[in-house]
This record gives sequence, structure tokens and C-alpha cells, in this order.
Amino acid sequence: MSRNLQNRRSFLLRTGASLAALFAGTFNSSSVFAKSGLNYLSRIKGLIVDKTHPHYPLWRSSMSWYIFKPERFPDKIIRASSEQDVIHAINYARTSGQKVVVRSTGHNPARAVLRNDGLLLDLSQLREVEVDKESMTAWVQPGIKAEELLHITEQVGLAFPAAHTGIVGLGGYLLGGGLGWNMPEYGIACRSILAAEIITAQGKKVIASADENQELHWAIRGSGQGFFGAVVRYKLQLYPLHTSILLNRYVISLDNMEKAVEYFEKIGNAGDKRLETFIKVGRFYPSNLPEAKRDLVCTVGFFAFADSPAEAKQIMSPVVDSGISNISLLKKENLNISYKDLYRPPETDYSSPNRTVVENMWTDELGKTLLLLTEKMKNEPPTSPRSFLLGGWSFNSTFEDPSSCVQTAGRHYLSWYMIAEEEKHIDPNYKWMDESLELVMPFSKGHYINEIDTLRYPDQVQHCFSVKSWKKLATLRKKHDPDNVFHTFLGHT
Ligand SMILES: Cc1cc2nc3c(=O)[nH]c(=O)nc-3n(C[C@H](O)[C@H](O)[C@H](O)COP(=O)(O)OP(=O)(O)OC[C@H]3O[C@@H](n4cnc5c(N)ncnc54)[C@H](O)[C@@H]3O)c2cc1C
Repeated sequence: MSRNLQNRRSFLLRTGASLAALFAGTFNSSSVFAKSGLNYLSRIKGLIVDKTHPHYPLWRSSMSWYIFKPERFPDKIIRASSEQDVIHAINYARTSGQKVVVRSTGHNPARAVLRNDGLLLDLSQLREVEVDKESMTAWVQPGIKAEELLHITEQVGLAFPAAHTGIVGLGGYLLGGGLGWNMPEYGIACRSILAAEIITAQGKKVIASADENQELHWAIRGSGQGFFGAVVRYKLQLYPLHTSILLNRYVISLDNMEKAVEYFEKIGNAGDKRLETFIKVGRFYPSNLPEAKRDLVCTVGFFAFADSPAEAKQIMSPVVDSGISNISLLKKENLNISYKDLYRPPETDYSSPNRTVVENMWTDELGKTLLLLTEKMKNEPPTSPRSFLLGGWSFNSTFEDPSSCVQTAGRHYLSWYMIAEEEKHIDPNYKWMDESLELVMPFSKGHYINEIDTLRYPDQVQHCFSVKSWKKLATLRKKHDPDNVFHTFLGHT
């Protein structure tokens, strides 16, 4: 794979000093060299913190983005400063009989990066991006976040289906599938992985693409936490940036929720893949009051992605013509926004690290499931008024793709988020989640690996894949990681 960027317009983002650099060396205490694999460990230039170090609790805690951390403790945290460090760390783990979990930015809701014992190999400092405008591709390292990538590609008129929340890292997002902006148009983000550089369990760097190591290419497109290697760079297909984005937003009283669902269906059936519909139910109205005093309402945002104002209006026309504004408490129409605005905080607590348990499903019955969960929220309010439901209507446009293991089994996507203000809310949140799952599971067509609690609900993991893909993943794991160097899905052995 040629990475010769001569005569091409390329952009390079390097992030410099960080906490890690500040402390690198300081934490390379002699105690960590005591075990086997010393040769490999001593060659690592990045940060190494082991359990005996006084700052270990702080470092362990910082590895998962969430406020409430599970009681799981890796023996060592290695923050790689280069691809070479990744190779040394994996060789060290394999030769000393330890397991590895790879981290990109630590946003996984199952807190999958925190495991007991072994190595936590942190790739968050690998943050280079090289964009090739001509071929509309980019090589991206795993520590780059959604908003950062879009900011870079935007400068050359290109876009990528990056996560809806700007802080999410590309590493784990892509590996698990990637539900991003423009997904109805371009498909789930991992389908835009053209190639990747992977460090295998044998400590070898290989390229995976449609032409080389196809089975690894298939596996990195959706296996998420279950992948058996470390991805140090992805080559991504980019797309022309839509220059005209229109947003219409409506707040709807729950008394009109059934009617609203009829409108969503009607608008969804209009079928333009450049129209994206996000429905949220939570305590959002009126937004000037504290959450506990707000009403539980449904808000919906329709985003029309186009290349001219006239085209944007035309894409939005099924929304305007539907008459949905007649049942709205509040409306904001014809808002001209940019890709940057997509990452402005909405009224939900979309990005709250107070999340405790998150669940999702692919479904063809989003209306029914939304109504069921809304009713439950109304009658049995969750511990925190900041908990919410999120639905992507007609979110999924591709169901079958033999070149990736990801499975997007339903037309719509539903996820819901339980927030805890205090530790004592965690158990009631799990109870609420258990009950809510029971209510809506009959309508599930499968799950998305990046937004489930694999430890609490281990059976769901298999339902993120087709039966055939699930078996193939197990076979590939045995073949490519015969010594079980890499942890598999949390909750599975
Ligand atoms: C606020 C918030 C908003 C979100 N929004 C979206 C969204 O819009 N769309 C969406 O699809 N998802 C979204 N997510 C979910 C997100 O995709 C997952 O949390 C994903 O795991 C995040 O990637 P990460 O790099 O932080 O993963 P991490 O937590 O760092 O890693 C998770 C697991 O992935 C594996 N892994 C990670 N990096 C690598 C690597 N480089 N090589 C090999 N294995 C690796 C490891 O097994 C690891 O245990 C959101 C999450 C949060 C917290």
C-alpha cells in the first residue's frame, strides 16, 4: 500500500505535550522491569505505570471517561508514544503470559478498557491525520476524536461519517461500527475503512484491506471489543462536504406522542437519505428550568444535508409539508448550520460522563418501542431527570455487507441512557434498564456493540452479529491470536 504523499495536498496534525509526556520517565520505576519480557519493556519510550506506583489510582481512573468506575484493575498501564511502543508492549505481554486490552479514548460504555490484571495499552497519544484531497482519503490514528477529524477534513471540502458527539475517539468508534453523521447516506462508518495498519498478537505490523489480509479487514469492520489486534492507523474513504445544512427542530408534548410517531413514519417514508431524523425523549422543556422541574417531552431534529440552499429546502420539504409543526409546543425552522454546529451541545445530556448504563437495539418498530419506553419514563421516572431516550428514524440504509462483520439489522436505531447523580443510583438504574429491556426486546432485531453493557447483558454480544459472522469471528480469533494475548468481549472468556 503506497503512502507516498508527494504532490498531494496533505495535512498533518500532531498533538504535542500532554500529561503523559510530562510524566513519561518519572513512572518508569525499576519495579516494573522485574518480570519476564524485560527486554521489550525496557524499549518502550512511552509511559509505564504499574500498580505499586502512588499515582496508579489516578491513571487507572483516567483511562475510562465515565465518572463511576468499575472495580477492575490492570497490572500495568502503558501509554504508547509510537507504533514501536505498541509492538514492544504486545511482545512483552505475549512473552510474559499477560493479557492486553487496547484503549483509544476510553468512551466505551461497558468500560471495556478496564480489566483485571494484565496490560492496558493506551493508544490515545497516537493522533496523526493525513488527508489526501485528490483521492478523498485519510490515514487516521486511533486517538483522534470525531470533531477534530471533521475540523481537518472540512478545510479541504471533505467529510466523514464521524460520531454524533465530537469527543468520541475514532479508534473504538470505527472498530465497533460507527453510527455517525450522514450514516443514512454513506452507511455505517466502518464500511468506509479502506485499510488499516494492525499490530498482531505476534507483534507484527500488517496491512488489512480488500486486497491483503481480507479476514482482518472484515473483522475490524465491526468486531469492537472483540478484536484480536491493535489498530494503529486506519485509511478512510472521505466524502464531499455538504455545504448547505438545514435544521428544523420541534418540541412535542407527550399527549401528542402517538400522533408524532405517525408524522415520523410519514416523513421517513419520503425516503431521502440526506434527511436525518433524531428523536429524543427526556426532561427538556422549558430549557431555562433545572431538569427536575422540566416536563418530559419529545424533541425532534430534522437535518437536511445538501449542496445548495434550494436543495436543502427541497430535502426538508416532507417535514414542512407533513404539518408536524401543528402539534409542536415549540418550533425552530430553517436554521442554517455548519458541520461545526453539529457538535454544539443540544439540550440533552448527550455527553454526560454521569452515564451509568446504556442500551440500544436495531428495530423496525421504533414508534412502538419509543411509546413503550416513554410511558415507562412517565410512570416510573428514572433516578436522574437527565436520563433520556434517543431514536434515529430510518437511520439505517444498508443491511447486508459481506465485507464487514458489523450487523445493522433494523431500519431504525434506538438507544437509551441512564444517568446517575450519585453512586447510589447505579443499582436502581440497572433495575430500570432490566425492566425496560424486557418491555422492548420483542421488537429487537439485534444490537450495536459500541453501546451495550456487555458485562451486565453478555447474551446481547452475540446478537450484534449474524450467526455466521459470530462463528467466523471465533475462528479468526483462534487463528490470529492462538495464545489469547488480547482480551475478548468483557463478560465473555
Ligand atoms: C458521549 C458519547 C457519545 C457517543 N456517541 C456515539 C455516536 O455518535 N456514534 C457511535 O457509534 N458511538 C457513539 N458512542 C459510543 C462509542 O462508539 C464507543 O464508546 C466507542 O467504544 C468509543 O471509542 P473509544 O476509542 O473511546 O473506545 P475505548 O473505550 O478506548 O475502547 C473500547 C474497546 O475497543 C477496543 N479498542 C479500542 N481502540 C482500539 C484499537 N485502536 N485497536 C484495537 N482495539 C481497540 C478495545 O477492545 C477496547 O476495550 C458514544 C459514546 C459516548 C461516551
